[in-house]
Amino acid sequence: MQFVSTRGKAAAVSLSQAIRNGAAPDGGLYLPDAIPVADLSTLDAAMPLAEFAGRMLAPFFDEDPLAAELPKICAEAFDFAVPIVTPDPRRPDLRALELFHGPTGAFKDFGARFLMACFDRIGDSADPLTVLAATSGDTGGAVGCAAEGRSAVRAVILYPKGRVSPFQELQLTCWDDPVQALEVDGDFDDCQRVVKAAFADRLLSDRHRLTSANSINIGRLLPQMAYVGHAALRLFAETGVKPGFVIPTGNLGHGFAALYARALGLPIGPIILVTNANRTLIDWHRSGDYAPRPSITTLANAMDVGAPSNFERLAALSPEQAEARVDLVDDETIRARMKSEYEESGYVWCPHSATAVEAWARLPAAEQAERTWIAAATAHPYKFAEAIEPVIGAEIPPPPALAAILGRPARKRSVPAQLGALVLALDGEAQAAA
Ligand SMILES: *Cc1c(COP(=O)(O)O)cnc(C)c1O
Repeated sequence: MQFVSTRGKAAAVSLSQAIRNGAAPDGGLYLPDAIPVADLSTLDAAMPLAEFAGRMLAPFFDEDPLAAELPKICAEAFDFAVPIVTPDPRRPDLRALELFHGPTGAFKDFGARFLMACFDRIGDSADPLTVLAATSGDTGGAVGCAAEGRSAVRAVILYPKGRVSPFQELQLTCWDDPVQALEVDGDFDDCQRVVKAAFADRLLSDRHRLTSANSINIGRLLPQMAYVGHAALRLFAETGVKPGFVIPTGNLGHGFAALYARALGLPIGPIILVTNANRTLIDWHRSGDYAPRPSITTLANAMDVGAPSNFERLAALSPEQAEARVDLVDDETIRARMKSEYEESGYVWCPHSATAVEAWARLPAAEQAERTWIAAATAHPYKFAEAIEPVIGAEIPPPPALAAILGRPARKRSVPAQLGALVLALDGEAQAAA
């Protein structure tokens, strides 16, 4: 299978090359040149997710050098449970797909683990790839964790000093070699500026084989298609009706993966994309005009996106494939929803996941009754305890994976927001390794 750019001005490449490149050279995003139809006869709801993913994703790896490695990549990436639970037994048709049982407590673990497992096989331990990531939250921690202990890829993570919570900082700084955390004296935009400058420096970029793990990488979307497909097939086997999905949305990676899984032929009914108060997506859906804008800060901060980076992929789908509803939930409603759900069922939804429950609750009763709906629960509530605890009036204990992070020592290097400082860190680390 070949991968082509959404802008149509770059050469078609193999999957490995698309993963290595991240964005296409013409600035577009990679998509398969044709949508492969899943062979449902090879897929079984009772299969463990790793095995299911290996089969469902096989057509994307067809003729790629990584094809033989796919089962091992899936075994490494999908090494934690993905339960579907019924948060409130009085509403059996609303399920939560708990995507937060990975080592850093958010669904970013899927994409990061899959991508790093691929990079580790694309790279070479004598001359490793370097993933450079500017982060303000979940992605950096997931990437660091997924890179720990690898030999053909290392990770360098830049985060803004004093702008992440103490737990977030620990989650960025607690990983062992070959992971390096740089605390940048500046804000998130400064971190991004330095990273962009590094990629723009061809010599530097070649010397360290720089690559990126951001949400446009096709290697992050594939594993998301797999767990969406697996969840859909599990519920379809149980109920005989295609489940609906409600997806908390920021950069549209997760939402796009669900649309694509449906286009592959997985039994998926209606899809609702829910944003926080950032209006870009809902305004586009209502007016047909796409107008990216600066993001605003909300309680569901991993979804604070004003220019969804995967929008170009959505626009590349046919109207039928892209068929989705869009809803928006503001902070006040997120708080009210987290509170009422906790009071009625004892279940704690994180602020992101609460947007999905709210969107489901707004559906007409007839639509709720027609099928089972899956709300994607994207982060463990412990990660957002500061925001949730005052609202529900209860303390959220850390789950075992996050408690393990609390016990790890932190390692970081403080640097000014300048490319020169990043170069020193990159070269220094490479020399130490040599
Ligand atoms: C990243 C993230 C989202 C949004 O996912 P996209 O793929 O960017 O749309 C939602 N919830 C949480 C907890 C996240 O970390």
